[in-house]
Amino acid sequence: MSTHEAQQPIYEVRCNHDGCTATFTPETGFSSRFARQARHAAKQAGWDVPPPYGKGSRSPLDFCPEHVQRRPR
Ligand SMILES: [Zn+2]
Repeated sequence: MSTHEAQQPIYEVRCNHDGCTATFTPETGFSSRFARQARHAAKQAGWDVPPPYGKGSRSPLDFCPEHVQRRPR
């Protein structure tokens, strides 16, 4: 095959609400290249992105601004 352009690692935050396909992709290259920066940018945009606590099996759920209010307690 021919040479293909190498893509930069791009991080995006996805809403974990059932059936929601919303994703947040940082605009700047810097934010999109680091997961932590991407999450920070998402938070600034109104997303509910709790920081991951430890490396346990449970994964934190992220919600887009539309579903932030519906986070189960
Ligand atoms: Zn959503």
